[in-house]
Amino acid sequence: EHQQALAARSTDNLRSPICCILGHVDTGKTKLLDKIRQTNVQEGEAGGITQQIGATYFPVEALEKKTAVVNKDGAFKFNVPGLLVIDTPGHESFTNLRSRGSSLCNIAILVVDIMHGLEPQTLESMRLLRDRKTPFIVALNKIDRLYGWKKIDNNGFQESLSFQNKSVQNEFRDRLEKTKLAFAEQGFNSELYYENKSMARNVSLVPTSAHTGEGIPDMLKLLVSLTQERMTNQLMYLSEVECTVLEVKVIEGLGTTIDVVLSNGILREGDKIVLCGTDGAIVTEIRALLTPAEMKELRVKSQYVHNKEVRAALGVKIAANGLDNAIAGSRLLVVKDDDDIDDLSEDVMGDLEGLLSKISTTGRGVTVQASTLGSLEALLEFLRVSKIPVSSISIGPVHRRDVITASSMLEKAKEYAVMLCFDVKVDKEAQAYADEVGVKIFTAEIIYHLFDDFTKHMDALKAQKKEESKMLAVFPCVLNTVAVFNKTSPIVLGIDVVEGNLRVGTPIAAVKQNAVTKIKEIVSLGRVTSIERDHKAVAGGICKRGQPSVAIKIEASSQPSYGRQLEEKDVLYSQISRASIDTLKEFYRDEVEKEEWSLIVKLKPLFDVN
Ligand code: GDP
Repeated sequence: EHQQALAARSTDNLRSPICCILGHVDTGKTKLLDKIRQTNVQEGEAGGITQQIGATYFPVEALEKKTAVVNKDGAFKFNVPGLLVIDTPGHESFTNLRSRGSSLCNIAILVVDIMHGLEPQTLESMRLLRDRKTPFIVALNKIDRLYGWKKIDNNGFQESLSFQNKSVQNEFRDRLEKTKLAFAEQGFNSELYYENKSMARNVSLVPTSAHTGEGIPDMLKLLVSLTQERMTNQLMYLSEVECTVLEVKVIEGLGTTIDVVLSNGILREGDKIVLCGTDGAIVTEIRALLTPAEMKELRVKSQYVHNKEVRAALGVKIAANGLDNAIAGSRLLVVKDDDDIDDLSEDVMGDLEGLLSKISTTGRGVTVQASTLGSLEALLEFLRVSKIPVSSISIGPVHRRDVITASSMLEKAKEYAVMLCFDVKVDKEAQAYADEVGVKIFTAEIIYHLFDDFTKHMDALKAQKKEESKMLAVFPCVLNTVAVFNKTSPIVLGIDVVEGNLRVGTPIAAVKQNAVTKIKEIVSLGRVTSIERDHKAVAGGICKRGQPSVAIKIEASSQPSYGRQLEEKDVLYSQISRASIDTLKEFYRDEVEKEEWSLIVKLKPLFDVN
C-alpha cells in the first residue's frame, strides 16, 4: 500500500498550480505576460514553454532557467511540476475560474504601476482576491520609469537596485513607502518581498519592469515559493476532473466551441460531459480536444493540434455538438460509468440556481446582468454586501426582453426599475425601449462604479420625492391669536408662536367642540402664505417659539371666518396627519428638532392620528 502511495506521488501524477494576472488597465499586465513568455534564443532558454488555449504553460525546467539569476547557488528547490499562467488578464478569467464559490486560481499576480499606486481596478481586484481567499503577490511594475534608472536586462531586482544612483534609490524607497501605506489603508500589510518575514501575514511586493525584464526572475521565484508554501500537497496531485469554461467562442469550421481550463484530472476525446447552459444543462460528447499548433506545424491545414487526452493543469479548446448556449464560468463535469446524468445536470445547473437563490424574496429589487457566471457571482456578492436588493438576474447582452423584466418594477417599486450591467453590451433596441418606459440602465467595467451609479440614482430620486412631498411636510406648532386683522378670505391675524416653529406653507386648524352636539370639530383655516413682522417677511419664512408677535396671512379656496366658525380665543395648530408625519420621517428627519417630535406626539390625539 505504501509502495502504491509512493508510486501515485511520482512526478507523472503532479499537477501544476494555476496563476492569474489582475490589476488596473495599463499597469503592464499584457506586457509582463509577453515578457515572461518570451524565450531568449541566444541563451538557448526555451525549456518547453508551451502556448495553450488561453494559457501558457511553464514547465519547471523553464522556471528554473528563468529564475537562475536570483538562485545562483541553487538553494531554492522547486517542488511544482510547472506553472500554468492564464493569458487573459483581468477580472474575467479570475472570476470564471471557480468551482462552488471557491477559486480554482491557486495564486495571483496583482500588477500595480509604481508611478501610479493603487487605482480603481486595483482595489476591485483586491476585493475579488480577498473574497475568494486567493493568495497573491504584487508586481510593482515599471521600475524602469524611475527617473535616471539604469537597466540591466532581465536582471534580479536587488542587484539592479544596488547599481542605481542614490537619487533613484531614494525615489524607489519613497514610492515603495507610499504604496505600502495605500495597501495598509485597504487593510493589507505589505512588505518588499525580500524584507517580508511572514508570507502568510504580509503581501509581498516585487518590483518589476516588463520592458527591461528586471525583477521578473524575482517575481517567478516568489510565485513558486508562495505556491509551495500555501498550497497543500494534495492540491498538487492529479485527482478528479475539475474543469471550468472560460470562454464560449464560435470558430469557423468547428461551430461553437468552449475554451476551458482543466485545473485537475484528465480529459479524453469521446468523454461525455455536462455543463451549464442558458436553457438548461448541456449534455454532450467531446469531439475534439484542441491546443494551438506550434509555429513549425502551421503549414498543416488546421491551426490546432488534436489531443487524445490532456492532463491538468492546462487550457484547451473543446469542440462538441450543442454548445451554443454554454455559459462562461460554468463547471464542466465528466460522466463516468456509474454516474446518473440527471444528477450531474442538476449539479451544474445548481451553480446558476444557487445565484438565483441570492435574489430578493420580496420581489423588489434591481435587475442585474453580467457577461459570465463568474462575474455575475462577483457582482451579486458585492450587491449583497452593499445591501442593494436584486429581483432578477441574467447572463449575456441586454435585450429588449431583459428590459421588459426590469420594467415590472415601475409598478412595484419605481426606484428599482434599474438595470446594473457588468461587462455586457446593451443592444440599441433594448436601450430605446428602456428610455421609452423609464427603466435606467447602468453599465460599467468596474463593479463598484455600478454601486456609485445606483447610489446617485437613489439620491436623485429622493431629492425629487422630497420636492414633491414639500406640501405634505407639516412641522408642528401651536399659536395664540393676539389680533384679528381680517376675518376671512384671506384671514389675517396677529399671533404668538407658543410651541414649535411656524413656517410659511403650514396648514392651520382650530379644534373646537360643537356647542350643540358636543362632538369635536376640526376647523381648517388654510395654509400660511406669509409671515411678517413690521411689514417685512421674516427671515427664512419661519417664526420660532417665543419670538415677538407676527402678522400672518392664511389662505384657502374657501375659508371659515372669525365671528362665525372661529373666535379670537381659539388656539390654532398646524394640522398634522399620518401622511405628514411619515413625510417628515422619510425626508426631513435631520431637520426636525427633538422638541418638535415631542410636540407631534402631543398633537396626534387632537387630530385623531394613530
Ligand atoms: P495592461 O492594460 O495592464 O495589459 O497594460 P499593457 O501591458 O498593455 O501596458 C500598458 C502600457 O504600459 C504599454 O504602453 C506598455 O508598453 C507600457 N508598459 C508596460 N509595462 C511597462 C514597464 O515595465 N515599463 C514601462 N516603461 N512601460 C511599461
